[in-house]
Amino acid sequence: MIADKEYKQGDIIADGDCSHSCLPNAIKARNKLMCISPVDIGEEITISYNDNLFLSAEERNKHYDFICKCKLCRDESMDKHMKHLSDMYNMMTVFCNKGILADVALDIMKDIIDYSIKNLPEKYVNFISKQIISDAFQVAVFAGEVDIAKKYAKELLMWTIIQEGDDSPVLEEINMYIEDPTKHVLYKKIENKESVVGGSS
Ligand SMILES: [Zn+2]
Repeated sequence: MIADKEYKQGDIIADGDCSHSCLPNAIKARNKLMCISPVDIGEEITISYNDNLFLSAEERNKHYDFICKCKLCRDESMDKHMKHLSDMYNMMTVFCNKGILADVALDIMKDIIDYSIKNLPEKYVNFISKQIISDAFQVAVFAGEVDIAKKYAKELLMWTIIQEGDDSPVLEEINMYIEDPTKHVLYKKIENKESVVGGSS
């Protein structure tokens, strides 16, 4: 589907059939087609048929019945970055599962965000940002870092509006976490954990 007008990030695009790109400029959410990167008149509007965050081109292409030829799939250096990010993400998950190391997981999460912004195409960063920031918010809550959690909750609000619209039903919940991240269920887990290890800080 070709854009018949210019769109900016967060615009709703009139629905239609979209081809795949691993570097999409739009996303389908709540039955709407939302623009996640600026689109020029005449540019193809694309969505991703795969919503995994960090996969190599080979792994991504297993999801499609065609060979994708986007910039992410053609560029070997991109594969190196994706592999590195995949390893970091897995390591972050391991530390998070060992609750007591949540602060280490949070440091890795910050590295994942910085590395992505520095090395991946902006379109890809726009595509993964909502998920990554949502994860970062949860890890910050789990690590008991209330101020950092608030910062990520504010970013999550912005990305949710871009990807789901300003009438998304989850905005109310995110606003509650911006006010007070300790209301999140993961914060209760850290409180319990602290009592187990004797409340040392
Ligand atoms: Zn691709």
